[in-house]
Amino acid sequence: MSLADTDATTSSSRATPGDTFESFDPGSGEVVGTYPVVGVAEVAAAVERARRAAQWWRDQGAEGRSRVLKKWRSHLVNHADDLIDVVHAETGKPQGDAQLELVLAVEHLAWATKHAPKVMKRRSVFPGLLMSNMAATLEYQPLGVVGVIGPWNYPVFTPMGSIAYALAAGNAVVFKPSEYTPGVGRWLADSFAAVCGRPVLQTVTGFGATGAALVDAQVDKIAFTGSAATGRKIMAAAAAHLTPVLMECGGKDAMLVDADADIDAAADAATWGGMSNAGQTCAGVERIYVHGDVYDSFVDRVVAKASDVSAGSGEDDQIGPITMPSQVDVIRRHVADALDRGGRAVLGGLDAVGDSVVGPTVMVDVPDDALAMTDETFGPTLVITKVGSMDEAIERANDSSYGLGATVFSKARGAELAARIRSGMTSINSVISFAGIAALPFGGIGESGFGRIHGEDGIREFTRTKAVARQRFAAPVALTSFDRTKKTDELVAKAIKLLHGRG
Ligand code: NAD
Repeated sequence: MSLADTDATTSSSRATPGDTFESFDPGSGEVVGTYPVVGVAEVAAAVERARRAAQWWRDQGAEGRSRVLKKWRSHLVNHADDLIDVVHAETGKPQGDAQLELVLAVEHLAWATKHAPKVMKRRSVFPGLLMSNMAATLEYQPLGVVGVIGPWNYPVFTPMGSIAYALAAGNAVVFKPSEYTPGVGRWLADSFAAVCGRPVLQTVTGFGATGAALVDAQVDKIAFTGSAATGRKIMAAAAAHLTPVLMECGGKDAMLVDADADIDAAADAATWGGMSNAGQTCAGVERIYVHGDVYDSFVDRVVAKASDVSAGSGEDDQIGPITMPSQVDVIRRHVADALDRGGRAVLGGLDAVGDSVVGPTVMVDVPDDALAMTDETFGPTLVITKVGSMDEAIERANDSSYGLGATVFSKARGAELAARIRSGMTSINSVISFAGIAALPFGGIGESGFGRIHGEDGIREFTRTKAVARQRFAAPVALTSFDRTKKTDELVAKAIKLLHGRG
């Protein structure tokens, strides 16, 4: 079973009588919280409350919204330890990683708050010579209510990529967090309520059915982050209401290492990019294509680096347990399949796949059609492949149904290689850095989804475009009237030839 096959309604967050469910510490299996399974009627009621709140939020104008969002930002920072504890408890990730998520989310919130008014503001555009008697303006208006459906791997950073930008653009949000991280979702909505008396951000907890109810509640947009399989179901359901969707799905990101690359830096980036957060990163490094001239030294250095990465639930461990228990089987299957097909584990391997903790694993000589090369593994595993040229590296990197992020290490050809990789984002001589730059849009192509969070595109994603044409004075020749004469038509024919006929 791959991530995409996961049935969100049969997760380890077991449903219990009384329409509540529990969230668990993935390391110890202990219950860390109990939350309501929010049903269809309650989701509809939340959306109804959000509709009224959206009108109020819109009426606050850019300044009023900015005041509230700044207060929220301070609240998040000043209560960071509480949120970090909830993230750590529900995902098992180290506290430092939970802090990093929060820090990046706050940066994005600050950027979106500052830039939304400028991006959305009414502006004039040139009406064209033929329509020069008109004034033309363009502005971006809030959509109304945005439904955000999130995953568990970065339960703060990922949904905040939609929530922060949707709120800054003047929308109300109803958020359905993953059933593995309901406490984080609840915490976010409670923290917003602490700075704003209106239900501008609400959280509805539950399984896939609660998400499906949100899609069916006729919100103005669904911003989904999760697997492509769930994304397809959501698109099909949203089609019934013509509700627009934003799809942030999985990845199988490639890293390219050129012959002139700084090999120490590339090995360090590969290890962190593939193994941090126990490899449970949508834009994490999974496949590496290395120029033959530096292949051996690169593999040695990655193995040396990755051997030092400690996995477990202890305070000093650098990667935690696998958050979603069923994912351990997926990782085991990918490793077994790679080894069965002639691959070699130069670090870790099947013995590294425990009950809930997976140790760093590096594999080589894995054929292109192995699961570890084609499907999202979502574990602390790397597959390194030798290539004869960077053209071959590009071709093999691009031979994937996914296209989320990518990494290039090269001194001379970084920009050229980055432009040729089929992905939404690429980092050169660093890894996943695009996610921390608020001005850069984030999103994928192909099975990785479509639409963008972050940056100006991420603000516009949660707006509707409003175009207005205003007549400044009557045109000397009437074009859009039944009073138009044959002579006018002749004049128009001459004018269009003069304007565009000389190519
Ligand atoms: P998932 O698809 O199982 O679930 C995501 C969310 O969808 C959950 O909240 C779930 O309850 C909900 N859901 C399930 N069925 C639904 C339905 N029929 N209607 C509405 N909602 C439904 O994904 P996951 O396991 O939580 O997350 C992991 C996946 O997310 C990976 O593929 C990962 O790469 C991807 N991801 C992508 C990004 C990105 O920005 N592109 C970021 C983080 C994670």
